[in-house]
Amino acid sequence: MDRRSLLKKGAVAAGALLAAKAAGNEAKAYAGEKKFRWKMVTTWPPAFPILQTGVERFAKRVEELSGGRLTIHVYAGGELVPPLGVFEAVSSGSVECGHSAAYYWAGKCNAAQWFTSIPFGLDAQGMNAWFYFGNGLKLWEEVYSKFNLVPRPAGNTGVQMGGWFNKKIEKLSDFKGLKMRIPGIGGKVISKAGGAVTLLPAGEIYTSLERGVIDATEWIGPYHDIRMGFYKVAKYYYGPGWHEPGSTLELIMNKKAYDALPPELKAAVDTAAAELNVQMLSEFETKNAMALEELKKDKKIKILRFPDAVLDGLRKLSKETIAEIAKKDPLSKKVNDDFQKFKKELAPWNKITEKAYYDFML
Ligand code: CA
Repeated sequence: MDRRSLLKKGAVAAGALLAAKAAGNEAKAYAGEKKFRWKMVTTWPPAFPILQTGVERFAKRVEELSGGRLTIHVYAGGELVPPLGVFEAVSSGSVECGHSAAYYWAGKCNAAQWFTSIPFGLDAQGMNAWFYFGNGLKLWEEVYSKFNLVPRPAGNTGVQMGGWFNKKIEKLSDFKGLKMRIPGIGGKVISKAGGAVTLLPAGEIYTSLERGVIDATEWIGPYHDIRMGFYKVAKYYYGPGWHEPGSTLELIMNKKAYDALPPELKAAVDTAAAELNVQMLSEFETKNAMALEELKKDKKIKILRFPDAVLDGLRKLSKETIAEIAKKDPLSKKVNDDFQKFKKELAPWNKITEKAYYDFML
């Protein structure tokens, strides 16, 4: 190659570089000017503490992190779409994003259930490990991709309580004939144990328990349960919440809406979601601990732990139930296999660290 053609090539390359740089700057300037306005729907009642209030804080954080370029208007459950219409609304693109829990969509998407919580599954720390450093989030994205949804973990309840009972549970057979309000896979397990499971909307649980229409109900933990007034109509409060050991809440975004964001706004949303994920768990932890102390002041309430024999029995039935549910489609099997493998891998480490620590400390 002679000097002239080398120079020419160099000039072309330099020209191309300059052009590319200019195009990049233009794209940057354009993205910098473009503002996005999103609508967000949730499953939670207006001002519902920790959940709805957390989502509102998330929206403010996104606005702050994006320098005002992405604003999110939050609608509580029922304000724009019904509480359980969130998945459909975001999937269809009628709104850009939503906040809910994946296990509510079991009827539409069986594999979704593992991304909230399954009986005797992972706790909050384990769920986050699976999402962020295992295959959890990748699998979740795969499962939701055919619904045009991008999911992010966005909150966790921590280990829930087992529920309020108006009779003592001393052996597995005490569930026989017990009328209990308990949704999801946990409900299927109680059915297998001989219980009569009902699904009541939140507004009807208290009166049903009071009138004996049901004998027991689970809800969340002390902080929310006190607000529902269950302690006035049932005296035994059992733990732990074997059926929901670390329920993850979800941020779901319409894929088209998310893909339309420039990288820095995607980062703002993802960062605010991760922040919500840790803050919500921290708020649950703090407020439940304080609420438990409040409950203890009422001497009529018996706060009890399910006996090991009961938990053992429930664990066996849960294993059967989960195996049946995992068989429904190949994607559910794939998710369950990975979840169970991850859980098995964490166990020996948890045993010599957290378990050993708490066994000694408490
Ligand atoms: Ca619950």
